[in-house]
Amino acid sequence: MIVKIRCPECDTEGSFSLVESSYQGPYRCWKCRRLFTINLENNELKSCESLSQEEFDRQQEIETLKAKFKRQ
Ligand SMILES: [Zn+2]
Repeated sequence: MIVKIRCPECDTEGSFSLVESSYQGPYRCWKCRRLFTINLENNELKSCESLSQEEFDRQQEIETLKAKFKRQ
């Protein structure tokens, strides 16, 4: 499933591929490189908040740890 996300910063539409119909997590605009935390429900964008690089790195770290944990 591909969902279109319009960047609130530069108004550029990007596509985001979803595994499930709901998603909450980081999204990066391909054009202006701004980071956001997006919340998708039933393939619709419910919220989009700007995210700092530090917070993004932290979330990536958590995802990496989760992936590691699953493998064990
Ligand atoms: Zn943008």
